[in-house]
Amino acid sequence: MDKTIPAHRQYILDNLFESFSIVSDGNYVFLCDMYYDYSRWSEAAVTNFGLPSPYMFQAGTIWEEHIHPDDRAAYHKSIEAIFSGKESGHDMQYRALNTNGQYDVCTCRGILMRDKEGNPEYFGGAIRNHGQQSHIDSMTGFPNQYGFFEDLNSNIRAGKPVNIAMVGISAFREINELYGYLFGNSVLQKFGRTIFDYAGNRGCVYRMDGTRFCVMSHTETIEEMSEKYNALRDFCRDRFKVDGSDLILDLNAGFFSLDNFSLDARTVYTCLSFAYSESKMRRQGDPVRFFEELSRGDRGQVEMLHLIRESIPRNYRGFCLFYQPVVDAMSEKVIGAEALIRWNSPAYGTVMPDNFISFLERDSMFPELGRWILTTAIEASKEIRKTIPDFHISVNLSYTQLQKPDFADMVLDVLRVTSYPSEYLTLEVTERCRLLDMDLLENIFIRLKTAGIKFALDDFGTGFSSIGVLKKLPFDIIKIDRSFVQKIEHDDTERKLMHEFTNLASTFNAEVCVEGVETAGMRDILQYYPVSTFQGYLYSKPMDIEHFMDYIKEQQ
Ligand code: C2E
Ligand code: CA
Ligand code: CA
Repeated sequence: MDKTIPAHRQYILDNLFESFSIVSDGNYVFLCDMYYDYSRWSEAAVTNFGLPSPYMFQAGTIWEEHIHPDDRAAYHKSIEAIFSGKESGHDMQYRALNTNGQYDVCTCRGILMRDKEGNPEYFGGAIRNHGQQSHIDSMTGFPNQYGFFEDLNSNIRAGKPVNIAMVGISAFREINELYGYLFGNSVLQKFGRTIFDYAGNRGCVYRMDGTRFCVMSHTETIEEMSEKYNALRDFCRDRFKVDGSDLILDLNAGFFSLDNFSLDARTVYTCLSFAYSESKMRRQGDPVRFFEELSRGDRGQVEMLHLIRESIPRNYRGFCLFYQPVVDAMSEKVIGAEALIRWNSPAYGTVMPDNFISFLERDSMFPELGRWILTTAIEASKEIRKTIPDFHISVNLSYTQLQKPDFADMVLDVLRVTSYPSEYLTLEVTERCRLLDMDLLENIFIRLKTAGIKFALDDFGTGFSSIGVLKKLPFDIIKIDRSFVQKIEHDDTERKLMHEFTNLASTFNAEVCVEGVETAGMRDILQYYPVSTFQGYLYSKPMDIEHFMDYIKEQQ
Protein backbone atom coordinates (compact mmCIF):
# COMPACT_ATOMS: atom_id res chain seq x y z
CA MET A 1 0.00 0.00 0.00
CA ASP A 2 1.17 3.54 -0.78
CA LYS A 3 2.78 5.03 2.35
CA THR A 4 1.29 8.48 1.93
CA ILE A 5 -1.98 9.92 3.06
CA PRO A 6 -3.49 13.01 1.39
CA ALA A 7 -3.45 16.21 3.49
CA HIS A 8 -7.24 16.47 3.70
CA ARG A 9 -7.52 12.90 5.06
CA GLN A 10 -4.76 13.62 7.57
CA TYR A 11 -6.73 16.72 8.64
CA ILE A 12 -9.93 14.70 9.19
CA LEU A 13 -8.04 12.00 11.06
CA ASP A 14 -6.48 14.51 13.46
CA ASN A 15 -9.77 16.28 14.07
CA LEU A 16 -11.62 13.07 14.74
CA PHE A 17 -8.79 11.85 16.96
CA GLU A 18 -8.95 15.04 19.05
CA SER A 19 -12.68 14.69 19.56
CA PHE A 20 -12.26 11.03 20.57
CA SER A 21 -9.57 12.02 23.04
CA ILE A 22 -11.86 14.49 24.81
CA VAL A 23 -14.15 11.69 25.91
CA SER A 24 -11.44 9.08 26.43
CA ASP A 25 -11.78 9.09 30.23
CA GLY A 26 -8.18 8.03 30.93
CA ASN A 27 -8.06 5.38 28.20
CA TYR A 28 -5.69 5.21 25.26
CA VAL A 29 -7.36 6.27 22.03
CA PHE A 30 -6.67 4.93 18.54
CA LEU A 31 -8.10 5.89 15.18
CA CYS A 32 -7.36 4.31 11.83
CA ASP A 33 -8.06 5.70 8.37
CA MET A 34 -8.84 2.39 6.72
CA TYR A 35 -8.48 3.64 3.14
CA TYR A 36 -4.76 4.11 3.84
CA ASP A 37 -4.39 1.83 6.90
CA TYR A 38 -2.92 4.87 8.61
CA SER A 39 -3.51 5.39 12.35
CA ARG A 40 -2.98 7.80 15.14
CA TRP A 41 -2.57 6.51 18.74
CA SER A 42 -2.37 8.29 22.11
CA GLU A 43 1.08 9.37 23.24
CA ALA A 44 0.58 7.50 26.51
CA ALA A 45 0.15 4.21 24.64
CA VAL A 46 3.25 4.93 22.53
CA THR A 47 5.32 5.45 25.70
CA ASN A 48 3.90 2.57 27.70
CA PHE A 49 4.20 -0.03 24.96
CA GLY A 50 7.18 1.38 23.06
CA LEU A 51 5.31 1.87 19.78
CA PRO A 52 7.31 3.47 16.91
CA SER A 53 5.29 6.72 16.80
CA PRO A 54 1.80 8.11 17.39
CA TYR A 55 1.32 7.94 13.62
CA MET A 56 1.66 4.46 12.14
CA PHE A 57 0.99 2.63 8.92
CA GLN A 58 -0.43 -0.85 9.54
CA ALA A 59 -0.73 -0.25 13.26
CA GLY A 60 -2.77 -3.47 13.58
CA THR A 61 0.24 -5.59 12.65
CA ILE A 62 2.56 -3.59 14.91
CA TRP A 63 0.15 -3.90 17.81
CA GLU A 64 -0.34 -7.59 17.26
CA GLU A 65 3.34 -8.14 18.01
CA HIS A 66 2.79 -6.69 21.48
CA ILE A 67 -0.09 -9.02 22.25
CA HIS A 68 0.52 -12.12 24.34
CA PRO A 69 1.04 -15.14 22.03
CA ASP A 70 -1.93 -16.95 23.62
CA ASP A 71 -4.29 -14.03 22.93
CA ARG A 72 -2.99 -13.23 19.47
CA ALA A 73 -5.18 -15.54 17.42
CA ALA A 74 -8.40 -14.13 18.88
CA TYR A 75 -7.16 -10.59 18.31
CA HIS A 76 -6.12 -11.35 14.74
CA LYS A 77 -9.45 -12.90 13.94
CA SER A 78 -11.36 -9.95 15.31
CA ILE A 79 -9.25 -7.37 13.43
CA GLU A 80 -9.57 -9.31 10.18
CA ALA A 81 -13.34 -9.42 10.60
CA ILE A 82 -13.40 -5.66 11.07
CA PHE A 83 -11.12 -4.83 8.14
CA SER A 84 -13.13 -7.08 5.84
CA GLY A 85 -16.26 -5.28 7.02
CA LYS A 86 -17.86 -8.46 8.44
CA GLU A 87 -17.94 -7.10 12.00
CA SER A 88 -18.61 -3.51 12.89
CA GLY A 89 -16.81 -3.36 16.20
CA HIS A 90 -14.87 -5.22 18.81
CA ASP A 91 -14.89 -5.43 22.56
CA MET A 92 -12.20 -7.71 23.82
CA GLN A 93 -9.62 -8.33 26.43
CA TYR A 94 -5.99 -9.28 25.88
CA ARG A 95 -2.59 -8.93 27.46
CA ALA A 96 -0.11 -6.54 25.81
CA LEU A 97 3.63 -6.31 26.40
CA ASN A 98 4.80 -3.02 27.92
CA THR A 99 8.29 -1.48 27.86
CA ASN A 100 9.09 -3.09 31.23
CA GLY A 101 8.72 -6.49 29.64
CA GLN A 102 5.46 -7.20 31.49
CA TYR A 103 2.06 -7.94 30.15
CA ASP A 104 -0.74 -5.46 30.95
CA VAL A 105 -4.30 -6.74 30.70
CA CYS A 106 -6.15 -4.40 28.34
CA THR A 107 -9.77 -4.05 27.44
CA CYS A 108 -10.10 -2.77 23.91
CA ARG A 109 -13.32 -1.39 22.51
CA GLY A 110 -13.50 -0.20 18.94
CA ILE A 111 -16.10 0.66 16.33
CA LEU A 112 -16.10 0.66 12.58
CA MET A 113 -17.40 3.66 10.63
CA ARG A 114 -18.44 3.06 7.05
CA ASP A 115 -18.58 5.44 4.09
CA LYS A 116 -21.71 6.18 2.02
CA GLU A 117 -21.15 3.02 -0.04
CA GLY A 118 -20.92 0.94 3.11
CA ASN A 119 -17.18 0.30 2.84
CA PRO A 120 -15.06 0.43 6.01
CA GLU A 121 -13.64 3.94 6.35
CA TYR A 122 -12.51 4.51 9.96
CA PHE A 123 -11.85 2.19 12.86
CA GLY A 124 -11.49 3.90 16.20
CA GLY A 125 -11.81 3.22 19.87
CA ALA A 126 -10.28 3.13 23.29
CA ILE A 127 -7.99 0.78 25.16
CA ARG A 128 -8.20 0.57 28.90
CA ASN A 129 -5.00 -0.56 30.54
CA HIS A 130 -5.97 -2.32 33.75
CA GLY A 131 -2.31 -2.94 34.62
CA GLN A 132 -1.54 0.77 34.58
CA GLN A 133 -4.37 1.56 36.92
CA SER A 134 -3.25 -1.22 39.25
CA HIS A 135 -6.71 -2.63 39.10
CA ILE A 136 -5.14 -5.96 38.45
CA ASP A 137 -5.17 -9.15 40.38
CA SER A 138 -1.50 -10.09 40.51
CA MET A 139 -2.13 -13.82 40.78
CA THR A 140 -4.31 -14.29 37.71
CA GLY A 141 -3.50 -11.14 35.72
CA PHE A 142 -7.17 -10.28 35.32
CA PRO A 143 -8.74 -6.99 36.41
CA ASN A 144 -9.80 -7.27 40.03
CA GLN A 145 -12.88 -5.97 41.84
CA TYR A 146 -11.75 -2.37 41.36
CA GLY A 147 -11.54 -2.93 37.65
CA PHE A 148 -14.93 -4.58 37.75
CA PHE A 149 -16.55 -1.68 39.58
CA GLU A 150 -14.87 0.86 37.35
CA ASP A 151 -16.18 -0.81 34.20
CA LEU A 152 -19.60 -1.40 35.74
CA ASN A 153 -19.84 2.26 36.75
CA SER A 154 -18.87 3.47 33.31
CA ASN A 155 -21.59 1.25 31.77
CA ILE A 156 -24.11 2.65 34.24
CA ARG A 157 -23.06 6.23 33.47
CA ALA A 158 -23.23 5.62 29.74
CA GLY A 159 -26.58 3.82 30.02
CA LYS A 160 -25.09 0.81 28.25
CA PRO A 161 -26.90 -2.50 28.84
CA VAL A 162 -24.61 -5.30 29.93
CA ASN A 163 -25.03 -8.90 31.03
CA ILE A 164 -22.94 -10.16 33.90
CA ALA A 165 -22.09 -13.64 35.13
CA MET A 166 -20.47 -14.51 38.45
CA VAL A 167 -18.83 -17.93 38.41
CA GLY A 168 -16.97 -19.64 41.25
CA ILE A 169 -15.82 -22.95 42.66
CA SER A 170 -17.45 -24.78 45.59
CA ALA A 171 -15.53 -26.27 48.50
CA PHE A 172 -12.24 -24.79 47.36
CA ARG A 173 -10.94 -24.98 50.89
CA GLU A 174 -10.65 -28.75 50.47
CA ILE A 175 -8.35 -28.31 47.48
CA ASN A 176 -6.14 -25.94 49.46
CA GLU A 177 -6.05 -28.28 52.42
CA LEU A 178 -5.39 -31.36 50.34
CA TYR A 179 -2.80 -30.00 47.92
CA GLY A 180 -1.52 -26.77 49.52
CA TYR A 181 -1.98 -23.10 48.67
CA LEU A 182 0.50 -22.96 45.80
CA PHE A 183 -1.39 -25.66 44.00
CA GLY A 184 -4.64 -23.87 44.89
CA ASN A 185 -3.26 -20.77 43.17
CA SER A 186 -2.43 -22.77 40.05
CA VAL A 187 -5.99 -24.09 40.03
CA LEU A 188 -7.36 -20.54 40.19
CA GLN A 189 -5.02 -19.36 37.45
CA LYS A 190 -6.07 -22.21 35.20
CA PHE A 191 -9.71 -21.69 36.11
CA GLY A 192 -9.44 -17.99 35.17
CA ARG A 193 -7.81 -18.86 31.84
CA THR A 194 -10.52 -21.43 31.15
CA ILE A 195 -13.26 -18.88 31.78
CA PHE A 196 -11.37 -16.48 29.54
CA ASP A 197 -11.29 -19.11 26.75
CA TYR A 198 -15.00 -19.81 27.11
CA ALA A 199 -15.86 -16.11 27.13
CA GLY A 200 -13.85 -15.72 23.90
CA ASN A 201 -13.77 -12.17 22.61
CA ARG A 202 -17.36 -11.60 23.68
CA GLY A 203 -16.88 -10.80 27.33
CA CYS A 204 -14.40 -9.37 29.80
CA VAL A 205 -13.18 -11.47 32.72
CA TYR A 206 -12.58 -10.15 36.24
CA ARG A 207 -11.15 -11.89 39.29
CA MET A 208 -13.37 -11.11 42.26
CA ASP A 209 -12.80 -12.30 45.81
CA GLY A 210 -11.97 -15.90 46.68
CA THR A 211 -12.71 -18.29 43.86
CA ARG A 212 -15.22 -16.05 42.12
CA PHE A 213 -14.78 -14.52 38.69
CA CYS A 214 -17.13 -12.25 36.76
CA VAL A 215 -17.72 -11.97 33.05
CA MET A 216 -19.27 -8.83 31.59
CA SER A 217 -20.63 -8.87 28.07
CA HIS A 218 -22.35 -6.37 25.82
CA THR A 219 -22.96 -8.84 23.05
CA GLU A 220 -24.15 -12.07 24.67
CA THR A 221 -27.58 -12.75 26.09
CA ILE A 222 -27.99 -14.34 29.50
CA GLU A 223 -29.15 -17.51 27.72
CA GLU A 224 -25.94 -17.65 25.68
CA MET A 225 -23.87 -17.00 28.78
CA SER A 226 -25.72 -19.74 30.70
CA GLU A 227 -25.07 -22.18 27.87
CA LYS A 228 -21.37 -21.41 27.96
CA TYR A 229 -21.44 -21.79 31.73
CA ASN A 230 -23.01 -25.23 31.42
CA ALA A 231 -20.28 -26.27 28.99
CA LEU A 232 -17.60 -24.86 31.32
CA ARG A 233 -19.21 -26.72 34.20
CA ASP A 234 -19.06 -30.02 32.32
CA PHE A 235 -15.45 -29.37 31.46
CA CYS A 236 -14.52 -28.62 35.08
CA ARG A 237 -16.27 -31.76 36.24
CA ASP A 238 -14.41 -34.20 34.09
CA ARG A 239 -11.48 -32.72 32.21
CA PHE A 240 -9.87 -30.21 34.54
CA LYS A 241 -6.16 -30.99 34.91
CA VAL A 242 -3.57 -29.04 36.88
CA ASP A 243 0.09 -30.10 37.02
CA GLY A 244 -0.85 -33.58 35.95
CA SER A 245 -3.59 -34.01 38.61
CA ASP A 246 -7.18 -34.60 37.58
CA LEU A 247 -9.53 -32.46 39.58
CA ILE A 248 -13.29 -32.33 39.85
CA LEU A 249 -14.44 -28.78 40.35
CA ASP A 250 -18.04 -28.01 41.24
CA LEU A 251 -19.10 -24.61 40.00
CA ASN A 252 -21.87 -22.16 40.83
CA ALA A 253 -23.09 -19.23 38.79
CA GLY A 254 -25.36 -16.22 39.17
CA PHE A 255 -26.41 -13.88 36.38
CA PHE A 256 -27.67 -10.34 36.21
CA SER A 257 -28.91 -8.20 33.31
CA LEU A 258 -28.16 -4.53 33.76
CA ASP A 259 -30.74 -2.46 31.96
CA ASN A 260 -31.93 -0.23 34.76
CA PHE A 261 -29.42 2.59 35.08
CA SER A 262 -30.85 4.13 38.23
CA LEU A 263 -29.16 1.33 40.20
CA ASP A 264 -25.72 1.82 41.64
CA ALA A 265 -22.86 -0.60 41.10
CA ARG A 266 -23.00 -1.95 44.65
CA THR A 267 -26.67 -2.90 44.28
CA VAL A 268 -25.89 -4.66 41.02
CA TYR A 269 -23.11 -6.54 42.79
CA THR A 270 -25.42 -7.52 45.65
CA CYS A 271 -28.04 -8.84 43.19
CA LEU A 272 -25.35 -10.83 41.44
CA SER A 273 -24.02 -12.27 44.72
CA PHE A 274 -27.57 -13.16 45.70
CA ALA A 275 -28.13 -15.12 42.49
CA TYR A 276 -24.73 -16.78 42.99
CA SER A 277 -25.59 -17.86 46.54
CA GLU A 278 -28.91 -19.23 45.37
CA SER A 279 -27.06 -21.30 42.78
CA LYS A 280 -24.69 -22.55 45.48
CA MET A 281 -27.12 -23.22 48.33
CA ARG A 282 -30.25 -24.31 46.60
CA ARG A 283 -29.53 -25.33 43.04
CA GLN A 284 -26.38 -27.41 43.32
CA GLY A 285 -24.65 -25.08 40.89
CA ASP A 286 -27.35 -24.66 38.26
CA PRO A 287 -27.26 -21.21 36.68
CA VAL A 288 -29.52 -18.74 38.49
CA ARG A 289 -30.65 -15.44 37.07
CA PHE A 290 -31.37 -12.74 39.59
CA PHE A 291 -35.01 -11.89 38.78
CA GLU A 292 -36.28 -15.43 38.74
CA GLU A 293 -35.36 -15.88 42.37
CA LEU A 294 -37.61 -13.26 43.86
CA SER A 295 -41.10 -13.88 45.09
CA ARG A 296 -42.38 -10.84 43.23
CA GLY A 297 -40.08 -11.26 40.30
CA ASP A 298 -40.62 -7.90 38.66
CA ARG A 299 -38.33 -5.00 38.03
CA GLY A 300 -40.00 -2.91 40.72
CA GLN A 301 -38.63 -5.39 43.19
CA VAL A 302 -35.02 -4.55 42.36
CA GLU A 303 -35.74 -0.85 42.69
CA MET A 304 -37.41 -1.46 46.03
CA LEU A 305 -34.45 -3.49 47.26
CA HIS A 306 -32.17 -0.71 46.09
CA LEU A 307 -34.19 1.78 48.16
CA ILE A 308 -34.16 -0.49 51.20
CA ARG A 309 -30.42 -0.89 50.92
CA GLU A 310 -29.92 2.86 50.56
CA SER A 311 -31.89 3.42 53.76
CA ILE A 312 -29.05 1.90 55.78
CA PRO A 313 -26.61 4.80 55.33
CA ARG A 314 -29.55 7.26 55.53
CA ASN A 315 -29.93 6.75 59.24
CA TYR A 316 -31.95 3.51 58.80
CA ARG A 317 -34.85 5.54 57.45
CA GLY A 318 -37.96 3.40 57.08
CA PHE A 319 -36.68 0.48 59.16
CA CYS A 320 -38.55 -0.33 62.33
CA LEU A 321 -38.85 -3.23 64.75
CA PHE A 322 -42.07 -4.97 65.71
CA TYR A 323 -42.34 -7.02 68.88
CA GLN A 324 -44.18 -10.31 69.29
CA PRO A 325 -44.87 -11.47 72.85
CA VAL A 326 -43.32 -14.69 74.12
CA VAL A 327 -45.46 -16.17 76.92
CA ASP A 328 -44.84 -18.75 79.62
CA ALA A 329 -46.47 -22.00 78.41
CA MET A 330 -48.30 -22.64 81.66
CA SER A 331 -49.18 -19.24 83.13
CA GLU A 332 -49.44 -17.60 79.68
CA LYS A 333 -47.86 -14.46 81.14
CA VAL A 334 -45.63 -12.36 78.90
CA ILE A 335 -42.00 -13.08 79.75
CA GLY A 336 -40.36 -11.65 76.68
CA ALA A 337 -40.64 -10.72 73.01
CA GLU A 338 -39.02 -11.40 69.68
CA ALA A 339 -37.94 -8.36 67.68
CA LEU A 340 -38.95 -8.59 64.00
CA ILE A 341 -37.88 -6.10 61.40
CA ARG A 342 -40.07 -4.23 58.88
CA TRP A 343 -39.36 -1.56 56.29
CA ASN A 344 -41.86 1.17 55.41
CA SER A 345 -42.03 3.70 52.62
CA PRO A 346 -44.83 5.82 51.18
CA ALA A 347 -44.52 4.03 47.82
CA TYR A 348 -44.29 0.45 49.01
CA GLY A 349 -46.14 0.50 52.34
CA THR A 350 -44.91 -1.98 54.96
CA VAL A 351 -42.48 -4.51 53.52
CA MET A 352 -42.06 -7.79 55.42
CA PRO A 353 -38.59 -9.18 56.20
CA ASP A 354 -38.97 -12.28 54.01
CA ASN A 355 -38.92 -9.89 51.04
CA PHE A 356 -35.58 -8.30 51.82
CA ILE A 357 -33.55 -10.06 54.52
CA SER A 358 -32.18 -12.87 52.36
CA PHE A 359 -31.17 -10.26 49.82
CA LEU A 360 -29.64 -7.76 52.24
CA GLU A 361 -27.84 -10.24 54.46
CA ARG A 362 -25.17 -10.72 51.79
CA ASP A 363 -24.59 -7.00 51.51
CA SER A 364 -21.49 -5.43 52.98
CA MET A 365 -23.71 -2.96 54.85
CA PHE A 366 -25.75 -5.64 56.62
CA PRO A 367 -23.54 -5.78 59.73
CA GLU A 368 -24.35 -2.09 60.31
CA LEU A 369 -28.05 -2.83 60.10
CA GLY A 370 -27.49 -5.80 62.43
CA ARG A 371 -25.99 -3.49 65.01
CA TRP A 372 -28.90 -1.08 64.65
CA ILE A 373 -31.40 -3.94 65.12
CA LEU A 374 -29.63 -5.14 68.25
CA THR A 375 -29.37 -1.65 69.74
CA THR A 376 -32.97 -0.72 68.93
CA ALA A 377 -34.33 -3.99 70.34
CA ILE A 378 -32.30 -3.60 73.54
CA GLU A 379 -33.40 0.02 74.01
CA ALA A 380 -37.03 -1.10 73.62
CA SER A 381 -36.49 -3.94 76.08
CA LYS A 382 -35.07 -1.49 78.65
CA GLU A 383 -38.31 0.49 78.37
CA ILE A 384 -40.47 -2.63 78.71
CA ARG A 385 -38.48 -3.87 81.71
CA LYS A 386 -39.79 -0.86 83.65
CA THR A 387 -43.19 -2.62 83.51
CA ILE A 388 -42.01 -6.27 83.44
CA PRO A 389 -38.71 -6.49 85.35
CA ASP A 390 -37.80 -10.01 84.14
CA PHE A 391 -38.50 -9.28 80.49
CA HIS A 392 -36.27 -11.02 77.84
CA ILE A 393 -35.65 -9.78 74.35
CA SER A 394 -34.88 -12.12 71.42
CA VAL A 395 -33.08 -10.81 68.35
CA ASN A 396 -32.70 -12.64 65.04
CA LEU A 397 -29.29 -12.98 63.42
CA SER A 398 -28.32 -13.78 59.88
CA TYR A 399 -25.55 -16.30 59.50
CA THR A 400 -23.59 -13.71 57.51
CA GLN A 401 -23.38 -11.49 60.61
CA LEU A 402 -21.65 -14.28 62.52
CA GLN A 403 -19.02 -14.44 59.82
CA LYS A 404 -17.63 -11.01 60.69
CA PRO A 405 -14.56 -11.42 62.91
CA ASP A 406 -15.72 -8.62 65.22
CA PHE A 407 -19.24 -9.98 65.73
CA ALA A 408 -18.82 -10.98 69.40
CA ASP A 409 -17.07 -7.68 70.19
CA MET A 410 -19.91 -5.80 68.53
CA VAL A 411 -22.56 -7.55 70.68
CA LEU A 412 -20.58 -6.99 73.89
CA ASP A 413 -20.03 -3.36 72.93
CA VAL A 414 -23.77 -2.77 72.36
CA LEU A 415 -24.50 -4.32 75.78
CA ARG A 416 -21.91 -2.03 77.36
CA VAL A 417 -23.14 1.13 75.62
CA THR A 418 -26.75 0.40 76.53
CA SER A 419 -25.84 -0.98 80.01
CA TYR A 420 -28.23 -3.85 79.43
CA PRO A 421 -28.08 -7.05 81.53
CA SER A 422 -26.83 -9.73 79.13
CA GLU A 423 -28.83 -12.58 80.74
CA TYR A 424 -31.96 -10.98 79.29
CA LEU A 425 -30.79 -11.16 75.69
CA THR A 426 -31.34 -14.18 73.42
CA LEU A 427 -29.81 -14.39 69.97
CA GLU A 428 -31.72 -16.51 67.45
CA VAL A 429 -29.89 -18.29 64.65
CA THR A 430 -31.15 -20.81 62.13
CA GLU A 431 -29.43 -24.03 61.19
CA ARG A 432 -28.03 -22.27 58.13
CA CYS A 433 -25.18 -21.26 60.43
CA ARG A 434 -23.82 -24.76 59.70
CA LEU A 435 -22.36 -23.19 56.53
CA LEU A 436 -19.88 -21.31 58.70
CA ASP A 437 -16.66 -22.52 60.16
CA MET A 438 -17.69 -24.52 63.24
CA ASP A 439 -14.59 -23.63 65.25
CA LEU A 440 -15.28 -19.96 64.71
CA LEU A 441 -18.92 -20.39 65.72
CA GLU A 442 -18.00 -22.32 68.83
CA ASN A 443 -15.69 -19.50 69.86
CA ILE A 444 -18.45 -16.94 69.41
CA PHE A 445 -20.86 -19.09 71.44
CA ILE A 446 -18.38 -19.60 74.25
CA ARG A 447 -17.48 -15.92 74.49
CA LEU A 448 -21.06 -14.69 74.43
CA LYS A 449 -22.48 -17.42 76.63
CA THR A 450 -19.78 -16.75 79.21
CA ALA A 451 -21.06 -13.18 79.23
CA GLY A 452 -24.57 -14.53 79.97
CA ILE A 453 -26.23 -14.28 76.58
CA LYS A 454 -28.55 -17.11 75.46
CA PHE A 455 -28.75 -18.73 72.05
CA ALA A 456 -31.87 -20.11 70.39
CA LEU A 457 -31.95 -22.44 67.39
CA ASP A 458 -34.69 -20.96 65.22
CA ASP A 459 -37.04 -22.80 62.83
CA PHE A 460 -36.03 -26.15 64.25
CA GLY A 461 -36.85 -29.06 61.95
CA THR A 462 -37.16 -27.11 58.71
CA GLY A 463 -33.53 -27.56 57.63
CA PHE A 464 -31.96 -30.92 57.02
CA SER A 465 -29.20 -30.73 59.57
CA SER A 466 -30.80 -29.27 62.67
CA ILE A 467 -29.68 -32.21 64.80
CA GLY A 468 -26.09 -31.96 63.58
CA VAL A 469 -26.02 -28.31 64.58
CA LEU A 470 -27.50 -29.11 68.01
CA LYS A 471 -24.78 -31.66 68.59
CA LYS A 472 -22.04 -29.18 67.84
CA LEU A 473 -23.31 -25.99 69.48
CA PRO A 474 -24.67 -25.50 73.00
CA PHE A 475 -28.09 -23.94 72.36
CA ASP A 476 -30.24 -22.85 75.32
CA ILE A 477 -33.55 -22.81 73.48
CA ILE A 478 -35.00 -24.70 70.54
CA LYS A 479 -37.75 -22.92 68.65
CA ILE A 480 -40.03 -25.39 66.93
CA ASP A 481 -41.24 -24.10 63.62
CA ARG A 482 -44.94 -23.48 63.21
CA SER A 483 -45.15 -25.90 60.29
CA PHE A 484 -44.93 -28.76 62.84
CA VAL A 485 -47.87 -27.66 64.95
CA GLN A 486 -50.37 -26.24 62.47
CA LYS A 487 -52.44 -29.46 62.42
CA ILE A 488 -51.54 -30.81 65.84
CA GLU A 489 -55.21 -30.81 66.90
CA HIS A 490 -56.03 -33.46 64.30
CA ASP A 491 -52.77 -34.99 63.19
CA ASP A 492 -51.21 -37.84 65.10
CA THR A 493 -47.86 -37.55 63.28
CA GLU A 494 -47.42 -33.97 64.46
CA ARG A 495 -48.06 -35.10 68.02
CA LYS A 496 -45.46 -37.84 67.73
CA LEU A 497 -42.98 -35.39 66.28
CA MET A 498 -43.60 -32.97 69.13
CA HIS A 499 -42.82 -35.82 71.50
CA GLU A 500 -39.55 -36.53 69.66
CA PHE A 501 -38.55 -32.88 69.49
CA THR A 502 -39.10 -32.24 73.19
CA ASN A 503 -37.15 -35.41 74.04
CA LEU A 504 -34.32 -34.29 71.83
CA ALA A 505 -34.30 -30.86 73.45
CA SER A 506 -33.98 -32.41 76.90
CA THR A 507 -31.09 -34.58 75.66
CA PHE A 508 -29.29 -31.38 74.78
CA ASN A 509 -30.44 -29.55 77.93
CA ALA A 510 -32.35 -27.00 75.94
CA GLU A 511 -35.74 -25.42 76.59
CA VAL A 512 -38.47 -25.55 73.97
CA CYS A 513 -40.38 -22.63 72.51
CA VAL A 514 -43.25 -23.41 70.13
CA GLU A 515 -43.95 -20.84 67.43
CA GLY A 516 -47.19 -20.26 65.58
CA VAL A 517 -49.65 -21.08 68.39
CA GLU A 518 -52.80 -19.75 66.79
CA THR A 519 -55.73 -21.34 68.62
CA ALA A 520 -56.77 -22.29 72.14
CA GLY A 521 -57.08 -25.91 70.92
CA MET A 522 -53.42 -25.96 69.89
CA ARG A 523 -52.40 -24.49 73.21
CA ASP A 524 -54.38 -27.10 75.17
CA ILE A 525 -52.60 -29.96 73.46
CA LEU A 526 -49.16 -28.35 73.57
CA GLN A 527 -49.45 -27.83 77.31
CA TYR A 528 -49.15 -31.63 77.70
CA TYR A 529 -45.58 -31.49 76.44
CA PRO A 530 -42.51 -30.18 78.26
CA VAL A 531 -42.58 -26.82 76.46
CA SER A 532 -41.38 -23.65 78.21
CA THR A 533 -42.77 -20.86 76.07
CA PHE A 534 -45.29 -20.11 73.34
CA GLN A 535 -45.36 -17.53 70.64
CA GLY A 536 -48.19 -16.99 68.18
CA TYR A 537 -51.25 -15.12 66.99
CA LEU A 538 -53.31 -16.60 69.84
CA TYR A 539 -51.48 -14.14 72.07
CA SER A 540 -50.70 -11.44 69.57
CA LYS A 541 -49.30 -10.62 66.18
CA PRO A 542 -46.07 -8.59 66.19
CA MET A 543 -46.75 -4.94 67.13
CA ASP A 544 -44.84 -1.67 67.07
CA ILE A 545 -43.44 -0.52 70.38
CA GLU A 546 -46.39 1.79 71.25
CA HIS A 547 -48.95 -0.99 70.76
CA PHE A 548 -46.72 -3.44 72.58
CA MET A 549 -46.53 -1.12 75.62
CA ASP A 550 -50.35 -0.76 75.61
CA TYR A 551 -50.67 -4.55 75.27
CA ILE A 552 -48.52 -5.38 78.29
CA LYS A 553 -50.11 -2.68 80.41
CA GLU A 554 -53.50 -4.28 79.70
CA GLN A 555 -52.09 -7.67 80.74
CA GLN A 556 -50.80 -6.46 84.11
P1 C2E B 1 -38.88 -16.02 62.36
O1 C2E B 1 -37.67 -15.62 63.12
O2 C2E B 1 -39.23 -17.46 62.34
O3 C2E B 1 -40.06 -15.14 62.93
C1 C2E B 1 -41.35 -15.63 63.16
C2 C2E B 1 -42.26 -15.26 62.03
O4 C2E B 1 -43.50 -15.93 62.20
C3 C2E B 1 -42.59 -13.76 62.03
O5 C2E B 1 -42.76 -13.37 60.67
C4 C2E B 1 -43.94 -13.74 62.74
O6 C2E B 1 -44.74 -12.62 62.41
C5 C2E B 1 -44.58 -15.02 62.25
N1 C2E B 1 -45.55 -15.54 63.19
C6 C2E B 1 -45.52 -15.46 64.52
N2 C2E B 1 -46.59 -16.07 65.07
C7 C2E B 1 -47.32 -16.57 64.05
C8 C2E B 1 -48.55 -17.31 63.97
O7 C2E B 1 -49.19 -17.64 64.95
N3 C2E B 1 -48.99 -17.65 62.74
C9 C2E B 1 -48.32 -17.29 61.62
N4 C2E B 1 -48.80 -17.64 60.46
N5 C2E B 1 -47.14 -16.59 61.66
C10 C2E B 1 -46.66 -16.23 62.86
P2 C2E B 1 -42.06 -12.10 60.09
O8 C2E B 1 -42.10 -10.96 61.06
O9 C2E B 1 -42.63 -11.88 58.73
O10 C2E B 1 -40.53 -12.53 59.95
C11 C2E B 1 -40.16 -13.47 59.03
C12 C2E B 1 -38.72 -13.86 59.16
O11 C2E B 1 -37.83 -12.78 58.82
C13 C2E B 1 -38.33 -14.23 60.57
O12 C2E B 1 -38.76 -15.54 60.84
C14 C2E B 1 -36.83 -14.09 60.51
O13 C2E B 1 -36.25 -15.24 59.94
C15 C2E B 1 -36.64 -12.93 59.57
N6 C2E B 1 -36.39 -11.72 60.36
C16 C2E B 1 -37.28 -10.90 60.96
N7 C2E B 1 -36.65 -9.91 61.61
C17 C2E B 1 -35.33 -10.12 61.43
C18 C2E B 1 -34.14 -9.44 61.88
O14 C2E B 1 -34.18 -8.43 62.63
N8 C2E B 1 -32.94 -9.96 61.51
C19 C2E B 1 -32.85 -11.07 60.74
N9 C2E B 1 -31.63 -11.52 60.42
N10 C2E B 1 -33.93 -11.75 60.30
C20 C2E B 1 -35.16 -11.27 60.65
CA1 CA C 1 -36.83 -15.94 65.00
CA1 CA D 1 -38.89 -19.13 63.64
